[in-house]
Amino acid sequence: MECSEDDCDREADVRLHVPWAANRPVCAGHARALVQQDGVVAEPLADAEEWR
Ligand SMILES: [Zn+2]
Repeated sequence: MECSEDDCDREADVRLHVPWAANRPVCAGHARALVQQDGVVAEPLADAEEWR
């Protein structure tokens, strides 16, 4: 699974739960930026080595 952000082809590390949009997989870098927004929660994906 790849990061869903535009112009990003890294492997997705977390699933983002976004209250105002569909849940989507993103890489760790994008997750760190996006979870700054109110209500956004990052759930580690089971197969993401980096978060173990
Ligand atoms: Zn990304």
